Amino acid sequence: MIAAYIGLGSNLQEPIQQLRSAVLALARLPSSRIGKISSVYRSAAVGPAGQPDYLNAVLRLDTSLAPAALLDALQHIEQEQGRVRTVRWGARTLDLDILLYGQRQVSTARLTIPHPAMGQRNFVLYPLVEIGGANLVLPDGSDLGTLIARVPRADLVRTRLRLEQDAIVPGDRK
Ligand code: AMP
Repeated sequence: MIAAYIGLGSNLQEPIQQLRSAVLALARLPSSRIGKISSVYRSAAVGPAGQPDYLNAVLRLDTSLAPAALLDALQHIEQEQGRVRTVRWGARTLDLDILLYGQRQVSTARLTIPHPAMGQRNFVLYPLVEIGGANLVLPDGSDLGTLIARVPRADLVRTRLRLEQDAIVPGDRK
């Protein structure tokens, strides 16, 4: 099993329900099991003004799926939840990103791992540090603690909302 870290985001159609549904769908993936799940974070949307706030979280998925198969599965979940993609960077019902896939670096036409924007996004780095720890090392040898020191927390709020549900018992708490 590889420890993959998945970023979840939503700012449309009851975002918290979108994230909870996504967690349920991720829990049903073959050859995979959910590990730690971060708190839910709230932030102002990036991109066109007037969008609702985003809710974001990160979870660890221990998986034997290859990176491309994992991306296929994430895109299927996004489509099942009716993601609307009319405007680049515009509002969306559900966005799932592969942030890290163990220590692997992937660079193909449809997949870049580590996720190219993760080092600049507070709504990715803060939940990632919450579950992975500041000592988590990226494939290039940098650690999360160093990365996050360069990215202000700004308006990011850690909410009391939780994604764990009765149906989801993170693997490492069984
Ligand atoms: P976005 O609209 O930001 O969710 O981008 C979606 C596109 O990013 C998809 O077509 C993917 O093929 C591509 N992509 C590249 N790297 C990744 C990654 N690490 N995780 C998810 N999608 C990725």
